[in-house]
Amino acid sequence: MGLPRTRIAAFPPEIERQFEADTNANRCRRLTLGILVSAALYNCFLIADWLLVPDVLQLAMWLHFVVVTPWMLTAAWLISRRPSPFVRECLAASVPVLIILQIDAGFAFTMSESAAHYQYVVIPTLLYTNVSLHRLVFRFAQSVTAVILICHAVLVLSASYISGPVATMILVQVAICAYITLVANFTMERDLRRAYLYSLRDRMRHAQADAAARHDTLTGLANRHHLKEELHRLWSAPSQATSPVSIVMLDVDNFKRLNDRYGHGAGDLCLKRIAAILTAELCGVGDCAIRYGGEEFLLLLPGLPLADAMRIAERIRRAIEQAAIPNEGSGLGGVVTASFGVAACHVTELSAAELIAAADSALYAAKTKGRNQVWPPPVTAEQRTAVLLSMTNYNLPRL
Ligand code: GH3
Ligand code: MG
Ligand code: MG
Repeated sequence: MGLPRTRIAAFPPEIERQFEADTNANRCRRLTLGILVSAALYNCFLIADWLLVPDVLQLAMWLHFVVVTPWMLTAAWLISRRPSPFVRECLAASVPVLIILQIDAGFAFTMSESAAHYQYVVIPTLLYTNVSLHRLVFRFAQSVTAVILICHAVLVLSASYISGPVATMILVQVAICAYITLVANFTMERDLRRAYLYSLRDRMRHAQADAAARHDTLTGLANRHHLKEELHRLWSAPSQATSPVSIVMLDVDNFKRLNDRYGHGAGDLCLKRIAAILTAELCGVGDCAIRYGGEEFLLLLPGLPLADAMRIAERIRRAIEQAAIPNEGSGLGGVVTASFGVAACHVTELSAAELIAAADSALYAAKTKGRNQVWPPPVTAEQRTAVLLSMTNYNLPRL
């Protein structure tokens, strides 16, 4: 009889790390609980000592209460602090090893013939080690089982008061139990790891589907579904109440003519290039470029006031023009250009829909004023002076 041939496939390091990160808390909790429960059960073994090996009861009690139980409680506490996986498993493995050493110490010193029945405490220890709440990971379970078998075999074979046939029966029983529990341990660990892989695959598929649902397939930019969620997040965050939100809407000028002249493929390529320009030009942490419609894009700029958003829009307008994507029929220098509408507000002033409508009206104004421009236009130095003067006049006392 050999152990199952199939090795438990080790995950690649990255997945192993993820597996540890996802399961560590639960494993630590289970081990801590397992050790505490088994500490109580283990001390019930004293009844077996009292019945089977009363001549070493004192030694057993001393080992129970001074060595093994305090160590079990210490190990449970250390594991509850979530140490590294290796330390965690070493601590867990130390508990059954110590239990078996205590059992075998009683076995070694007793002269009671009833000690021949002592395997009744070894078998529960194997069950505890390999399949119950404590369940060690397979490679640790193998080592601890080997230690249990060797220690017990040495003691049983060297005990003068146990006859050969009885010693053989004891060892066969313990070995069969070791084998069965190791197979169970192997199967449970393999199933646990498989189940984890399936759940990881499902999570990744879900994340992929979620990302696909939020992105436009042609340009790779976020889509309106993503925009809706971002707007909802911004408009429901109390921290946003004090800072402005700007929206820039841009629409490619005379794009229909580009399609008509160069074909739909060239139109698609143009949209991709514009998307790349938008991505490259946005550098704020929360900035987001969205493909809003066919050849219409929207920039969401949280925390940015109108003047800054207008500056960004002007920079992008120039970048698109300088990309010199041909559009001979556009009548705007023979290259692709875009018109921009900008609006800004605090989230307490307008709803998200009202802000978008304001940016859309500004875009419409940019189109009607001749395209390839940002609306509202930047205030010139003279205009600013005129505004300032008019304000000063207004405040001056009339003579
Ligand atoms: P304006 O300057 O007033 O915006 O004129 P325009 O020609 O850009 O606007 P119009 O709304 O008349 O035409 C937009 C065109 O964009 C029509 C449509 O076929 C094209 N379009 C929309 N989505 C796509 C796309 O994904 N790929 C391509 N190649 N064309 C698209
Ligand atoms: Mg257009
Ligand atoms: Mg349009």
